[in-house]
Amino acid sequence: MSKDAAFNAGAASCIPRPVINSLSTFAAAKLQDLETAHLRRRLTPTHRLDGLWVEREGRRLLSFSCNDYLNLSHHPVVIEAAASAARAYGAGAGASRLVTGDHPLLSTLEARLAAFKGTEAACVFGSGYLANAGLIPTLIGPGDGVFVDELAHACIWAGAQLSGARIIPFAHNDLTQLADRLRAERPVLRHAMIATDGVFSMDGDIAPLDRISALAQAHEAWLLVDDAHGLGVLGQGKGTAALFPQAQVDLAMGTFSKAIGGYGAYVCASGPVIDLLRTRARTFVYSTGLPPASAGAALAALEIIASQPDLAARPLAKARRFTSALGLAEAQSPIVPVVLGDAARTLGAMRALEAQGFLAVAIRPPTVPLGTARLRLAFTAGHDDADIDRLATAVAPLMETE
Ligand SMILES: *Cc1c(COP(=O)(O)O)cnc(C)c1O
Repeated sequence: MSKDAAFNAGAASCIPRPVINSLSTFAAAKLQDLETAHLRRRLTPTHRLDGLWVEREGRRLLSFSCNDYLNLSHHPVVIEAAASAARAYGAGAGASRLVTGDHPLLSTLEARLAAFKGTEAACVFGSGYLANAGLIPTLIGPGDGVFVDELAHACIWAGAQLSGARIIPFAHNDLTQLADRLRAERPVLRHAMIATDGVFSMDGDIAPLDRISALAQAHEAWLLVDDAHGLGVLGQGKGTAALFPQAQVDLAMGTFSKAIGGYGAYVCASGPVIDLLRTRARTFVYSTGLPPASAGAALAALEIIASQPDLAARPLAKARRFTSALGLAEAQSPIVPVVLGDAARTLGAMRALEAQGFLAVAIRPPTVPLGTARLRLAFTAGHDDADIDRLATAVAPLMETE
């Protein structure tokens, strides 16, 4: 048999047959329930043509749903940096960084990040999810407590759960409640951590880090800020904490997957904290190092942000153009939620916008609380003002209550 014939014969014998067993029956029933509640999710192959336009199901759409706030994912300099890093160091890191995966771009990237964020040191992780899932359990455990904003990102909750510490949620940005909980719970906890997003990913509002930091210090709690959506777009690109010079953030976490345009994540902190994370964080120790291309791309993107402070300000200005056109509360970040409530209605709104050439993906529970399904709009540096005005005109009738 030729190689091709053998391959084809193998393929023919691999045609999947429907499997009927208890597991797939269970999965099918679960999916049916979700379908009925308009909560089943499906993948849609999406070709991102550049930092703004996507092609889906044969249609070209102007995207207001990418977190690529500075359109850097398609910046020629960033792409070239990724390509040349891959040529120099390979497509993959080859192992955990503690074995042989610590390629030279990683320490360069960490030094650059620490300098940019003004901390002693930084540690790069494989992704934002891995960073929070690894760092929280390294620093906090049974006998300790972690105070979490109820709207904090899913991976903060995952890290908190993995830690075995007591999880003490507080209402979103409700500092009176946080203070009450700290007063009540802190005395019986060995160590305490407060964990919040800097910019909330589905609401676009920001955490009052000056007041949270003051509470953290008053109650001897460590402050973790996940600034995935703040880096590159707020505080001249330095992130949410830069808006609050008084705030002291012990663990400044963020990602390369949003404004940086690539993939990967980091934590900036003091030297000993970073050394401890590198020694003990399980998602660092037992996971392969970030690929060279991602590190190279992140370095190039950071350089662009650091050298063009005007660029970082643009996505927020674009978002504010939209909120002012619709008379919504002024945007605090490039993220603007248009909350429609019902999942089916939100899916309908998404389709209506699609018919007008816009991509605005519906966000449904459990990503957001029940009854708060929304279009989550993300504005980028490259969006034309005229297109933002057209979008506002298209969204206005969808917001009217029937
Ligand atoms: C996207 C996001 C993450 C996860 O980062 P990934 O690198 O995509 O895993 C974590 N936190 C927040 C607030 C995010 O928006």
